[in-house]
Formats: sequence, structure tokens, C-alpha cells
Amino acid sequence: MSNLDTFRKQTGDWLEANCPARMRTPSKRSEGVYGGRNAVFPNEDAKIWMERMVEKRWTAPEWAPEYGGAGLSPEEAKILVQEMDRLQCRKPITGHGFWMLGPALLEYGTEAQKLEHLPKIARGEIRWCQGYSEPGSGSDLASLRCKAEDKGDHFIVNGQKSWTSDGDKADWIFCLVRTNSDGKKQEGITFVLFDMESPGVSTRAVPLITGDAHFCDTFLDNVKVPKENIVGEIHKGWSVAKALLVHERKMMSELERNMPKGKYSVVEYAQHYLALDENGKVKDSSMRNRITEFLMENKTVGLAQKRAFEEGMAGVLDMRVTSIFKYVGTENKKVKDELIIDMMGVAGAGWDNEQFSDDEYYRAYEWMSGKALTIAGGSSEVQLNLVSKRSLGLPEQ
Ligand SMILES: Cc1cc2nc3c(=O)[nH]c(=O)nc-3n(C[C@H](O)[C@H](O)[C@H](O)COP(=O)(O)OP(=O)(O)OC[C@H]3O[C@@H](n4cnc5c(N)ncnc54)[C@H](O)[C@@H]3O)c2cc1C
Repeated sequence: MSNLDTFRKQTGDWLEANCPARMRTPSKRSEGVYGGRNAVFPNEDAKIWMERMVEKRWTAPEWAPEYGGAGLSPEEAKILVQEMDRLQCRKPITGHGFWMLGPALLEYGTEAQKLEHLPKIARGEIRWCQGYSEPGSGSDLASLRCKAEDKGDHFIVNGQKSWTSDGDKADWIFCLVRTNSDGKKQEGITFVLFDMESPGVSTRAVPLITGDAHFCDTFLDNVKVPKENIVGEIHKGWSVAKALLVHERKMMSELERNMPKGKYSVVEYAQHYLALDENGKVKDSSMRNRITEFLMENKTVGLAQKRAFEEGMAGVLDMRVTSIFKYVGTENKKVKDELIIDMMGVAGAGWDNEQFSDDEYYRAYEWMSGKALTIAGGSSEVQLNLVSKRSLGLPEQ
């Protein structure tokens, strides 16, 4: 048996022995675990599962041991993902620290920053949020105005951030601030970290169409940020910001793969909700065409995503493709959600009503919330601009 075969066997055995049965069922969105000072768990098994994985250092398996990880090689980390998929183990913990800040700190952080922040992410002790967007600065992020005044060993930050996902639940924020207004707008931005409990930070939740209040407006009023909390160099935060966005888009392109799948496959939804002929075929030919088109597209996207995932695990992925996958993955999910809702008819309009099943309610929720994914992390139109410029080499409009 090779070393990797032995690792696979030991990993599978450990997961079987340590992952509670309830954590081997599909997870609802509301059951996600994000850790933090005020960590909330959907049940006791979720807490046990996170604690066991933290102890094993498999919440951030590839990070070095001094940063709270297990120091697994890319091949070992891939086996861990495969074994967790095979046994249907839920992710023990997730969030902005794992997807975005951790990888950016590994690339741009000082040793002191890595030692301070990475272990707390890996252990689920600190939950992070992202302070990029501002009113008027979303797609045109580099126009941001949140101002950081240089006071020697610290900045005083004033301004507003918008669409801060879970800003009211996070403990710390990674934030883009303007430290220089002269010259090119990209060249006066600094990437800083600060505690959301700092004096002068306040948040206001923004309710969504789904009824959730997932976002916040975040107000920064004379917030003191020590200069040791700059990631990268002063005025040069744009490079850090862009590197982090690549990780965000990569995560979003894989969302559908990692999400609960609903009760049925698309074909099963058709069989369940649509009229069929005597051969079991969907009677309505236009609906049949839509289903076939979706299945063909989905198969192609799935195979391309699988290849990119494998290349990513092997460290040979050309990161420019993340915009392609962010675009295709989130648009494809939107098409799927709309198709299923159309097939369900009135049953797909379930909302706060005892006449609808859990799954019907879930599908209506997915249909509404999935649209946001084509905007978050850079809208579909902006991804197409990036693909045309960076991957196809087309001239800018
Ligand atoms: C679910 C979700 C979570 C989010 N979480 C966070 C978060 O945690 N932190 C954070 O900082 N931000 C977050 N955002 C904000 C997100 O990054 C912005 O919404 C996004 O970048 C778009 O910016 P905007 O909303 O200001 O729209 P705008 O930039 O005003 O765009 C409006 C429309 O114009 C189009 N458009 C704009 N510029 C161009 C162009 N050059 N070419 C073609 N079309 C263009 C856009 O595609 C869009 O359709 C989140 C958004 C969502 C939906």
C-alpha cells in the first residue's frame, strides 16, 4: 500500500468513527457553522463535529501547524475532501476567514499577522467579514472613499461600507480604506484589519426579499486602526484586494457543488410535478427542451468544474479561469432554480404557508436567494468584462 493509500484508509476510518451520524446528512443553509466569539450551532452534534475537526487540525488542513493547520500536502488534502464527500460529511465550519482572508494572509501577511490570525480562524474562535463595497463603489470598487487619516502609528478611519455580509455577527473585518486621494484611484488604497468591537464601529442590518437580514450597512466613525494591522504595503492594498477576490470567486464557483441539493434531481422534479405521456416522457415539448438543454449544459459545466477543482488541488490552476467559473456556476444555478420553480407551478410559490412541503419552501427560497450570487463577489457583467480582457485578450470598451 502506498503512503497515500494508507492515508486514505486512515482518513476514512477516522471520519467514520468521529463524524456524528447527523453531520452526515445534507445541511440546510440555516445550519451552517461559522464559529466566532458568539458561535451558534444548530445542534450539539454540529458543535462536537467542529471541535473534533479543530482538534485534528482538519478545518484548515493545508495550513502549516504553526498557523493552526495540519500541514497536509495538496494530495493528502484532496484525499480528505474526497473522503468527506464519499461519507457525506458536512463542512465542520466555514466562512470568510477560511475562503478569503486566510489565503490572502498566507500570501501577503507578515509572520506576526499569520501567527496572530490564522490559528484563531482554524480553531473557529474569530469570525471575519469583508468591508469592500461602499455606496457608489461596488463594481467600480477602486473608487472607494472610506478615508483613513495617517496619525503616525495608527489611522483614524471614517466612512461607510455597504452589503457587509454578516457584519453584525462577525468579530473582525478586513477592510479597504483610502489613504491617498492623489493619482490613480487604485494606488491610494490600503488593506487593513480591525476588531468590529472597536469604538466607532456600528452596523445596521438590511432585510432581503427572502426575509433574512444577511447584509449590513457598516458605519465607521473615527475608528482607530493600528498600522501593524496593514496587510501588504500602505497605498498598495489593491493587489491584496484583487488576490482575495480570486479566492472569493473560486469559492462562489464551487458553491453549487457544496450546497444542499434539494429533495429531487431535476429529472425527478419533472417526474413529480409535470404531466407525463404513456412512455413516461414529459408531455410539454417546450419544457422537455428546457430540461434537456439544462442537463446538457449542467453536465458540461460539472465536468469543467471537476477538472478545475482537481487542477486547483494540484496547484496548477490558471487563476484567470475563476471569473469564468464564477459567471457560469452562478448563472447556471439561476437557470436551474428557475426551471424547477416553473415545473412546480403553484407548489413553487411556497412561503410561510402550511400547505407547502419543506422542499417546496426550500425551492422558493433558493430561487430568490440564488439571484444574489450573480451579483456578490463581482456581478456577472463584470466577470464577462474580466474574461474578455484577461482570458481572451480583447480590447476594453
Ligand atoms: C449576496 C451578496 C453578498 C455580498 N457580500 C458583500 C460583503 O460581504 N462585503 C462587501 O464588501 N460587499 C458585498 N457584496 C457587494 C457586492 O460585491 C456588490 O453588490 C457587487 O460588487 C456589485 O456592486 P453594486 O451592488 O454596487 O452594483 P453596481 O456596481 O452599481 O452595478 C449595478 C449594475 O450595473 C452593472 N455594471 C456596473 N459596472 C459595469 C461595467 N463596467 N460593465 C458592465 N456592467 C456594469 C452591474 O453588473 C450591475 O448589473 C455582496 C453582494 C451580494 C449580492
